[in-house]
Amino acid sequence: MSESGFLEPFGGAVCLDFANTLDGRATAQPTEYVHTYVDLAGWSEFAGLIDAPTSARLRRHDSEASLRTALNLREAIFEVFTAVGRGETPPAGSLDEVRQRYAEAVASARLGPAPEGSFTWEFTGDQPDRAWWPIAVDAVRLLTQGPLNRVKVCAAEAGCIGLFLDTSKNRSRRWCTMDGCGVEAKVQRQARRRQATRR
Ligand SMILES: [Zn+2]
Repeated sequence: MSESGFLEPFGGAVCLDFANTLDGRATAQPTEYVHTYVDLAGWSEFAGLIDAPTSARLRRHDSEASLRTALNLREAIFEVFTAVGRGETPPAGSLDEVRQRYAEAVASARLGPAPEGSFTWEFTGDQPDRAWWPIAVDAVRLLTQGPLNRVKVCAAEAGCIGLFLDTSKNRSRRWCTMDGCGVEAKVQRQARRRQATRR
């Protein structure tokens, strides 16, 4: 965990890191990192989507509606990209949820200059939804531009179901983090090996 109290990001894409803010989804006790709108604005700042002064202003809203929308978006992102990572067809309803939130986000954005002479969506103002707008934009960017063949679901049997972009050369990364699920998997492998030798 980071100093901010949020999970250290390992997804390699903002939208995947946001999906991972509900950690250990297949375990008996998943860990929720976004309980309130204040958490959401805090995470957005943590992920570099808004600066600290903007985050402080947004937090004053403490908007329940924005929080609910963001969490629905998060679940849609999770559904879409776990399907992608498993080579399955993403559920149409989840895809449509992402599309709808993206449409709302870009409707409130303007085009501003980006590095190398290109342009990018820019968000200004203090509407509470600004905390999740860049996440919707990132989800559609990843869906439309990829690399989707690098989206993976953590292979841990313990059931983290963390999502990440595998940027390793030969696409061999299997776990969300080597010191998290990677270690657990290693321990389990060793235990199985010990059992096998005993037999
Ligand atoms: Zn994991």
